[in-house]
Amino acid sequence: MTYPRDVGGGGLGTIDSCLVEEQCGWTSDALVRRAFGAIPGPIIHCQGEQRERYLLPAVRGDIDVGLGMTEPAAGSDAAAIRTTAKRDGEGWIINGTKHFITDGDFVDTVIISAVTDPEKGAKGISTFFVDKGTPGFRVARVQHMMGMRGLNHDELSLEDVRVGPEQLLGQEGAGLSQMLSFVNAYRLGGVGARAVGMASRVLALATDYAQQRKQFGKPIGEFQMIQEKLADRHLRRPHDGAEHRLGDRSRQGSA
Ligand SMILES: Cc1cc2nc3c(=O)[nH]c(=O)nc-3n(C[C@H](O)[C@H](O)[C@H](O)COP(=O)(O)OP(=O)(O)OC[C@H]3O[C@@H](n4cnc5c(N)ncnc54)[C@H](O)[C@@H]3O)c2cc1C
Repeated sequence: MTYPRDVGGGGLGTIDSCLVEEQCGWTSDALVRRAFGAIPGPIIHCQGEQRERYLLPAVRGDIDVGLGMTEPAAGSDAAAIRTTAKRDGEGWIINGTKHFITDGDFVDTVIISAVTDPEKGAKGISTFFVDKGTPGFRVARVQHMMGMRGLNHDELSLEDVRVGPEQLLGQEGAGLSQMLSFVNAYRLGGVGARAVGMASRVLALATDYAQQRKQFGKPIGEFQMIQEKLADRHLRRPHDGAEHRLGDRSRQGSA
């Protein structure tokens, strides 16, 4: 949706893509999620032959690409990764563990973040394409999530994985900013807007149920407590307008 038209994408802006994501959240959309999520944003930094090898096929849907940023000790703090990539001739040798990687076992290649220069802190992190089947690169275990069970989430192990210089994505040292600029956009649409769609669906299902389920001779939706719960949820819907801000209890009371 959001990739530029000149690489085959839909060219949608942030608001448009959030509206689509919200509608997808309304559905049971594991496969749509897979199709959207299988092109992590940093891929846009492909240069030269990488565009033909990864970017264009990914946007066409011919290959699936994963994102390997998170580690057991580095979640929100993406700069705290311990995975390393050390120079070896013209290429690199990567060692480390990634976890919670969506469809890590399904995708054809994973963009892996690794420390290339420990002296440079946040500017010493780079990203690499590591293809499925590369010696030393394997799925260590499948990690079961509370939700999104239509997709897999995996721990990935990298032991002395050799990659060539052509596997470096973009500039050396630019890895963290590549990752975070994508994650910030993804959290807005893929997480935030999608959650709004899911919450709206849950409210609709609960409202239907309250009208159908009968106790004490009438639908439970006629009981004041149930009505209050549903009304309260309705007022919390962020897309109903800025005046109904999340957590603004005084407004909900007056409404
Ligand atoms: C369904 C799913 C799919 C995922 N897919 C991928 C993927 O494909 N690739 C990938 O690399 N990662 C993936 N992740 C991992 C995801 O990026 C991390 O879960 C996320 O970065 C948070 O890290 P964490 O889970 O370790 O939580 P933590 O960083 O340990 O955070 C725990 C809690 O502390 C809060 N917190 C942390 N820091 C602060 C702070 N400074 N101030 C206030 N509160 C704070 C957080 O908001 C959270 O509530 C996925 C996660 C999930 C749930």
